[in-house]
Amino acid sequence: MLGRQPLFIIPVHGDPNVFMKIGILSRNRELYSTRRLLEASESRGHETRVVDYLRCYMNITSTRPSIQFAGEALDFDAVIPRIGASRTFYGTAVVRQFEMMGVYSVNESQSISRSQDKLRSMQVLSRTDIGMPTTGFAHSTRDIDGLIDAVGGAPLIVKLLEGTQGVGVVLAETKKAAQSVISAFRQLTPNILIQEFIKESRGVDIRCFVIGRRVVAAMERRAPPGEFRSNIHQGGSAHAVELSPTERRTAVRAAGALGLRVAGVDIIRSERGPLVLEVNSSPGLEGIEAATGVDVADTIIRYVERNASPNRTRDRVKG
Ligand code: ADP
Repeated sequence: MLGRQPLFIIPVHGDPNVFMKIGILSRNRELYSTRRLLEASESRGHETRVVDYLRCYMNITSTRPSIQFAGEALDFDAVIPRIGASRTFYGTAVVRQFEMMGVYSVNESQSISRSQDKLRSMQVLSRTDIGMPTTGFAHSTRDIDGLIDAVGGAPLIVKLLEGTQGVGVVLAETKKAAQSVISAFRQLTPNILIQEFIKESRGVDIRCFVIGRRVVAAMERRAPPGEFRSNIHQGGSAHAVELSPTERRTAVRAAGALGLRVAGVDIIRSERGPLVLEVNSSPGLEGIEAATGVDVADTIIRYVERNASPNRTRDRVKG
């Protein structure tokens, strides 16, 4: 089912004799990533089901937690959550209920909530020594000049927190431009994020796909000429890329700092080393599998095989 390139499988030592009941929590079974995970799981012999988490319901006061789907109680050994950014609240409630039932979830509900809040995850990352662009955040401040100075002046980037795929990311080349972009954005949202512009990244960012403690695949996304945003939706192109040991370590540590076992970590290269832009808890498989030829879906399933034993939630409160 995979596109352009033949896939090679990363050898890992799972136990092929352990067959499990695996639930893929996804709103749409036609999505490439969902289809690939289903295929990979079935081809490893697991009983696999795609479940629309918005259609799950639960009695949250029962002393024996359970989850219902169309009148049936769901019974899995492991779940793979693919929670959309706009569905975090209900999606993570469903994952949390599975955790309380002792079901292993590849990414835990806490980590998903944490990483889907861009600001919260940057605050968590900033406590570590993982590199990030200098970033400022303010609530409808009148002190625009102070905010600009806080990130080292123009050129700078202004971002809408709720933006995705590069929409709502604006480069202001001069202080004057920065002042007017910030005042314009303030009409749209009271929360303003501004960031040092890393010009030496030259419109290139790197998506590192982390599973467990390893980067299993990495691709470089390159912006078209005249554009600084490398998002594919902004006309960017993708290729496999070799990472330096520092880049690998940065990606793995960023995922780990947020508690994610499967993550897409976006980094840019700067004069002071790799800088983390964002960490995604449901990274897409299509672009990375096509660009690198790595069978990422199979690697995720093998990771689940090696790690899914009941009650492996690290969070003791389980809530
Ligand atoms: P989104 O979440 O909408 O994709 P990003 O923060 O990832 O927004 O920004 C989109 C793109 O813009 C990035 O992939 C990168 O190429 C570029 N970019 C973002 N922030 C910076 C920055 N501080 N310096 C240089 N380029 C940046």
